[in-house]
Amino acid sequence: MAQKTQLNRPSEVHALLERLGHRPNRGLGQNFLIDANILQLIVDTAVLKPEDAVLEIGPGLGALTERLVEQQVALTCIEKDRVMASYLKTQFTALTLIEADALKVDLNALFSKGITKVVANLPYSVASRLIVDMSACASRPEHMVVTVQKEVADRITASAGSASYGVLSVLTDFYYHRTAVKKISPTCFLPPPKVWSAVVSLVKRETPAGGDDLYPIFKKIVKFCFSQRRKMLATSLRNAGIAHATDLLESIDISPTIRPEDVAVEQWVRLAKATRD
Ligand code: SAM
Repeated sequence: MAQKTQLNRPSEVHALLERLGHRPNRGLGQNFLIDANILQLIVDTAVLKPEDAVLEIGPGLGALTERLVEQQVALTCIEKDRVMASYLKTQFTALTLIEADALKVDLNALFSKGITKVVANLPYSVASRLIVDMSACASRPEHMVVTVQKEVADRITASAGSASYGVLSVLTDFYYHRTAVKKISPTCFLPPPKVWSAVVSLVKRETPAGGDDLYPIFKKIVKFCFSQRRKMLATSLRNAGIAHATDLLESIDISPTIRPEDVAVEQWVRLAKATRD
């Protein structure tokens, strides 16, 4: 029987890619994690229990997948690359593999079948969008542990007033407690990406900052105001066609001169409610 490929050994990953006749696709963010400690840290952060049902997006050659399988959880994977997907089918029989672009999968339908956690080393070009889409699902997972570009991790975990604070921070804060877990050097990947990465943990809030019915208007206001990041909030709201913006902000105890980067999630929620009502 052929020896199992050790996916934390660069020479073996190179040999496997050669056997598959595959060159890592940069557009698909194919930087494979080869650091055993980081892979284990990702799995440990997810604190998996046998009753968990996990979604991994972008399993690639299966370095994280094999550790998730060891945890004996129900595992579903979405992989866009046909070569990777065909290879994974030969290596793992006990998982549900969806060969598709994760952006085109009905994630809410998938989650509503009982997915409790997402554990993934996400493709960088679509990571932010996937995180926002997943957190906005009505059946959103209780815990997401994702590896993303360090700069994206900073934006997800930022608090009001910090340089990285923006749309991604506020939208994820609506539904999740966000924590930066670990910075990852490019040398932990093969091929090494140009930038550092980081593991981020998002734990679902018991009580979200607002209801699902409020989220669409909340998102619209946050995106619009951050598109005018340097403007005072009252000015942005007036530009959005909201009459009496100064009075409105004062009535909900928010300074009309505050700038978006200093507005905390609870204030965005108050503002969304006031413009809706
Ligand atoms: N999980 C592996 C690891 O940790 O070594 C690979 C991670 S690699 C950063 C990203 C993976 O996502 C690749 O396997 C790539 O083919 C896949 N991918 C890229 N875009 C995707 C998309 N839109 N939907 C699903 N998978 C995608």
